[in-house]
Amino acid sequence: MSRTMSVLGFSPNSRIDKTLLDKFLRLPVPENKWQATYIWIDGTGEYVRAKDRTLTSVPKSLKDYPIWNYDGSSTYQSEGANSDIYLHPVAVYNDPFRPGKQSSLVLCETYKYNKEPTESNKRRVCAEAMERAAEHKPWFGIEQEYTLLDMDNRPFGWPTNGFPGPQGPYYCGVGADRVYAREIVEAHYRACLYAGIDIAGTNAEVMPAQWEFQVGPGEGMKCADDLWVARYILHRIAEEYGIVVTLDPKPIPGNWNGSGAHCNFSTLAMREDNGIIEIEKAIDKLSKQHVRHIQAYDPKGGQDNVRRLTGHHETSSIHDFSAGVANRGASIRIPRSVAEEKKGYLEDRRPSSNCDPYSVCNALVRTCILDE
Ligand code: ADP
Ligand code: MN
Ligand code: MN
Ligand code: MN
Repeated sequence: MSRTMSVLGFSPNSRIDKTLLDKFLRLPVPENKWQATYIWIDGTGEYVRAKDRTLTSVPKSLKDYPIWNYDGSSTYQSEGANSDIYLHPVAVYNDPFRPGKQSSLVLCETYKYNKEPTESNKRRVCAEAMERAAEHKPWFGIEQEYTLLDMDNRPFGWPTNGFPGPQGPYYCGVGADRVYAREIVEAHYRACLYAGIDIAGTNAEVMPAQWEFQVGPGEGMKCADDLWVARYILHRIAEEYGIVVTLDPKPIPGNWNGSGAHCNFSTLAMREDNGIIEIEKAIDKLSKQHVRHIQAYDPKGGQDNVRRLTGHHETSSIHDFSAGVANRGASIRIPRSVAEEKKGYLEDRRPSSNCDPYSVCNALVRTCILDE
């Protein structure tokens, strides 16, 4: 095989022996030294970036992580002449990539030179909404669907010429001919638990090489913060295997399911007896704000999600609002168990897999609780 042939389609990472790293990760870290990985959302509003620094004292809480900066002209976030963007730490997680060592993951918000949030910092307005809605104790649980790709953009494990057999056997499937790269899913699940993320579960999805994990339920900002860090961990683990994670909502056109980020939402009143009345009130409010929500549910104001929300493949049409019990073809689904118990939560099925969960949670709270 020629050199080009062997490289085509494979990440160079997949050829590196990862077990060697272990002997270096076992080296003791000097006392009072701490490695911090700062993570942020770049100008696409969809991808994460990260860089590392050594702290010279052991951080005890969030405030011990200093504000830092980076070159925003290299992340689609500013002009070269005025390029510094500030990183404000907002949440700290255990670092699954240096287990048991003096290190942590630090989720950050981004701010411009004039101290204003960057355009891709959707967290600021979301946090403000959560503060105002705090007494209603809003909970969120997000189902993150995603697809694994090889380096030439083909779903991982798909034949190079042609397609796998039609959808049917793959969802929650078991077996070498049904699911691909479970290693990544298993590694990610454990890494998220170690990090302190409220990961709720995981399953193989309808299209081969498509998977899902769920985060939540988390109150206020917790679910969206967790989801961003869980995405970082997923990209980072897949990188080690030489596999690419795409959050594109419709990676393969045609008769293949797309990827969503269903957002399950409840308030204290919805979770109490006869909360179904509150759930129905929220659905009524949502029905009047469909366009606003579609705009908030992908990074391009609906331009990505329009490929997915066709009214087929377990989706509703992007143009219409609908709701129903156990209906996976509706914008909003009331789970069967919620209808039976007359309390619980609703599922908003519209958010795209590449949504910013801060924008989704923000829109839900402003429509359903703050009546904006
Ligand atoms: P589906 O049947 O749509 O595939 P999943 O089991 O994948 O549902 O996901 C359900 C999600 O709902 C989980 O993330 C869970 O944490 C979340 N959830 C459960 N109860 C609530 C609640 N009361 N409020 C908000 N989210 C909830
Ligand atoms: Mn699910
Ligand atoms: Mn799913
Ligand atoms: Mn769902």
